[in-house]
Amino acid sequence: MNCSDVRDALEAYIADDLTDAEQAKLAAHLAGCDECTAAYERTRAVVADLKGIADAFVPRERFVPRPAYAPRPAGGWGWRIVAVAASVVALLAMSALTVPALARQLPLPLTREIDALEEENESLQQQVDELSVRLETVGGEEVAIVDSAPGDLPPEVNAAVQLLAMDFIRAQYAGDLDALAAMGTERLKADIAARPQDYLRPVGAEIVFAQMTEAAVTEDGTYLVFVRLSDSVEWTDSQYQENFEIKLINGVYLVDFMGMDA
Ligand SMILES: [Zn+2]
Repeated sequence: MNCSDVRDALEAYIADDLTDAEQAKLAAHLAGCDECTAAYERTRAVVADLKGIADAFVPRERFVPRPAYAPRPAGGWGWRIVAVAASVVALLAMSALTVPALARQLPLPLTREIDALEEENESLQQQVDELSVRLETVGGEEVAIVDSAPGDLPPEVNAAVQLLAMDFIRAQYAGDLDALAAMGTERLKADIAARPQDYLRPVGAEIVFAQMTEAAVTEDGTYLVFVRLSDSVEWTDSQYQENFEIKLINGVYLVDFMGMDA
């Protein structure tokens, strides 16, 4: 048995699917090969994790109230924000969907899938590392702020836009449709009236603001801010992102659109 044979047989070994003779050969190889032993330890840990995730997994299908948000191609900052949003969504998809999907197919074959996921993870991590992230207090909450375009907007504009998004989310969790409408443009007011359930969140749930972007502005003067958050209702189902389009109308910042991403 060479290293390649061993790697191919690792999951079967872990799942106790090998014959006694194969098992003995593989064990003998592991005893003399540090690299395969490391691969074995890693695979065993991942298989254990996947089994746990598969058991805990709850489908997310019922959690898609709005069409996917499509940011306008605005050049510069726009793509950076989109990259962050895509990374976060991809990471979430990986942990919440892909991995349990793999887990359902246990026990074979896993090693190559794991390698591919780890590579993907590294490249996503690299994208995230390239962006500057700092902790700031916004509306009394300490939240990680992702730089979109440093210095693009005056700090007071950034603060006003971010605070409006936070207040909007709090009103969602307070079940306060009047407050939501008061923070919205006519377009948003009409949408809230048409489908209030899409704007309401579980009243009394504890909100955790995980991350938000700095505000950015499109060519037509729409401010964008993305907020990632979770609530305490049901952990596997309650991490998501709210994407805001905010307009300055008669000196007042108002929410014109709010869309959700998983
Ligand atoms: Zn080996």
